[in-house]
Amino acid sequence: MLGCFSLIVSAICMATDSSNTSPPKNTNAINHVILISVDGLRSELLQSPLIETHPSMARLLRGPHTFEARTDPDSTVTLPNHVGMVTGRLFAGPSGHNWLGNSNPPKPGAGGTLNEMHGEYVASMFDVASDRGVATAVVVAKSKFVLLDQSYDETNGAVDIVGTDDGRDKIDTFITCKESDQVVSETLKFIQHSAEKGGRSLSFVHFAETDSAGHAGAWDLADETEYRKAVLRVDSAIGRLLSGIDSNAALRGHVAIVLTSDHGGGVPPRSHTDSKAPINFTIPFLVWLGVDQAPSDLYAINTTRIRPDKAENPRTEGAKPIRNAEAGNLVLMMLGLPAIPNSSVNAAQDLILIPSVGTTVR
Ligand SMILES: [Zn+2]
Repeated sequence: MLGCFSLIVSAICMATDSSNTSPPKNTNAINHVILISVDGLRSELLQSPLIETHPSMARLLRGPHTFEARTDPDSTVTLPNHVGMVTGRLFAGPSGHNWLGNSNPPKPGAGGTLNEMHGEYVASMFDVASDRGVATAVVVAKSKFVLLDQSYDETNGAVDIVGTDDGRDKIDTFITCKESDQVVSETLKFIQHSAEKGGRSLSFVHFAETDSAGHAGAWDLADETEYRKAVLRVDSAIGRLLSGIDSNAALRGHVAIVLTSDHGGGVPPRSHTDSKAPINFTIPFLVWLGVDQAPSDLYAINTTRIRPDKAENPRTEGAKPIRNAEAGNLVLMMLGLPAIPNSSVNAAQDLILIPSVGTTVR
C-alpha cells in the first residue's frame, strides 16, 4: 500500500512537470505532512455557495475529500476529538483513549496525562514519527492542548525502542498561539527549518477562532456574522501557509495537508455539545497531496468506508464512516510510516487516497 501510494503520487507530480526530460528521480516525495484542525468548522463552509468566499480551503479541495465525515460517535467537543485524531482511537471503551475532559488538564501525576486516564500508555502519531527521526510539532490556539505536551514529554513519553534512540519527548516543538496568523508563522518556521536540515516533519496545527466565534454567534452561516468572518480569517491564514509552501523550493510539492475538524456547531445554538445533532457531528475531511489534483470523493474511493445517513453517526463496526480519528494513521501512511500501536481507527492504514483501476469516482 505504501509503495503504491508513493508511486502514484510521484507519477502525478511527474506528470505535472512537462519540462522533465531527465530520468525520473525520487524528488517528488511527500516529506512534510500537516494535519490541520479548524475548530468548529461546519461542512457547509466548504460547499457551494459558501466555498466561493474561501479560496484557500477551495484549493485544498483539489484532492480526495468528503463533506460527510464524522466526529467521535460519543463526543462532539474539542479535546476528546483531537485526542482521537492524534491517537487513532475513539473516546469510549477498553480500546478508547477515554479522555472526556474539555478544559485545561491537571498537572501530570494528578491525572493530567492520557496514560493516567487510560490506565496504560496511549501511543500517538507523534510517537511513531519521533521514534523514526521525523521532526514533530504541535502548533495550537487553545491552552488545553497542553494535555498533549504533558502526555508526550521527556518524562511521560514512552522510551524509544525503534532504531536510534530519539528520546522520550515525542513533540519537538509545542507552541500555543494567540491567533491564526501566529499559528501559520510558527508552522512555516518549523517546516522550513525541518526542510533546511534535510529532514521530514509531521505537524499538528489548530485554528481556534472559528469555534470562539461560533460560541459567540450561534454558528450563524449568514453573511457578515462573527462566525463567517472568523472562517474568512482562517481561510486567509491558510492562504498564507500555502503561499509560504509555494514560495519555498524545498517545500513546494513536498508538503501534504489533511484538513478536518473536531466538530461542527449550533446545537444548542451557541454550542456543540449535543453529540446526536447532525450539524455538530458532520465535518469535512480533506486531503491535499502537495499538488492540485482533480477533486475526488473519499467515500467513492474507499469501499471499506460507508457513507452514513445524514442523520446518523454510527458506532457499529459494520457501518464504518470516515472519521476525523482516521487522520493520525493516515498522515503516518503519507510519510511512509507504520500505524500507531494499539490504535483502532484506520489502524490498517486502509483509508486510501487514490482510486484503484476500474473504480468510478463520482
Ligand atoms: Zn467549542
